[in-house]
Amino acid sequence: MPALDDILQQKMEVLESKHQHRVLCVTDRQDGVVVMRGGKSLISFSCNDYLGLSHHPKVIAAAKTALEQYGTGAGASRLVTGNHPLYDELEAALAAYKGTEAACIFGSGYLANLGTMPALVGKGDLILADKFVHACMIDAARLSGATVMRFAHNNFEHCRMLLEANRIEHQNCLILTETVFSMDGDRAPIRGLKTLVNASDSWLMTDDAHGLGVLSSPSPLVGEGGEGGLSPTSHTRKDSPLPNPPPQGGRGLIEMGTLSKATGSYGGYVCGSKTLVEYLKTAARTLIYSTALPPANIAASLAAIQIMQSEPELVAKPLQHAKYFTQLVGLPEAQSAIVPVILKDNDKVLAASALLEEKGFLVAAIRPPTVPENTARLRFAFSALHTREQIEAVADIIKAQGWL
Ligand SMILES: *Cc1c(COP(=O)(O)O)cnc(C)c1O
Repeated sequence: MPALDDILQQKMEVLESKHQHRVLCVTDRQDGVVVMRGGKSLISFSCNDYLGLSHHPKVIAAAKTALEQYGTGAGASRLVTGNHPLYDELEAALAAYKGTEAACIFGSGYLANLGTMPALVGKGDLILADKFVHACMIDAARLSGATVMRFAHNNFEHCRMLLEANRIEHQNCLILTETVFSMDGDRAPIRGLKTLVNASDSWLMTDDAHGLGVLSSPSPLVGEGGEGGLSPTSHTRKDSPLPNPPPQGGRGLIEMGTLSKATGSYGGYVCGSKTLVEYLKTAARTLIYSTALPPANIAASLAAIQIMQSEPELVAKPLQHAKYFTQLVGLPEAQSAIVPVILKDNDKVLAASALLEEKGFLVAAIRPPTVPENTARLRFAFSALHTREQIEAVADIIKAQGWL
């Protein structure tokens, strides 16, 4: 029998041969957009802290106060003794900001997905997921035991075809998308998907990890069509290609997201109807069987949400910066704070990232399997704290290198 380490060594060699071996790099994030790596100071275009709130004085002060008042850890899961007073405050503030009836905080965005999906659907149900949704949505979908099918990216026509062919044989149906796609920066056709969801008596779950604190409308799902709870299990008409439309008020809209990107702290959430949230608190295993977040994290998120709410001009900045960049390099106008510069070839992207680093800029090289084959890219994430000069400087390098 080969030893465990020998087997792992072999597995790593396979990954290495596919240029898929990854290593951690010590990175000291300083105030603003500066990071220190290997003794070198770099301007980062690779942080998801879009508003710089992880270093905001008010956020730090709130975390410190909570740390002193409540200690470092929550002590138990939320259902036991970990549900410290700040949870209620944060859930109320988040629901108010998103314009939903209620919110439920989880340990992380990943845990929010892993806990929520298996609580909503299971064997005999259908999940239709956009081809590009985040790995944790796919993991959650698989964990649920529902039949999982993928539709072509942002192609609701394809989603509609899959619904027509498969919806009727399944009891409940959940459609998954991201509001802002994490590796492409484009936005989902939420309005079209909502129409499909209503017409097929399905539910829609969106991952807003890169939308919260960046998109001007805090909730892409609220507004026209309104917010609603989960519909009761559908009774489908067998002669119709699509099931009956849901009864009034039976729309199922579920918004998940993270508190670790623009919010600058840590944690995840699900926003939706009061019933949905009440149900998740008793049914989501990642909430029940995992320790509550440290109070200082909750306090930091609360302060961050208050800043997002009171400073719309700050929230507008990452997108303004991304648009300035796309204008400079001649790409289609940015739709979010994320802009991919697709160079296709893995080695070319690694070399480009290395060259940018040499010139003082940290820009992540994103390769398969994180993105589809032959679409390796530099992923630029714009912060409210970047200066126009910094954006112009990276744009100049891209133009001088003829990468686009
Ligand atoms: C980062 C991310 C998550 C996971 O959130 P965490 O709080 O970091 O666990 C989920 N979905 C998307 C699209 C993300 O980018």
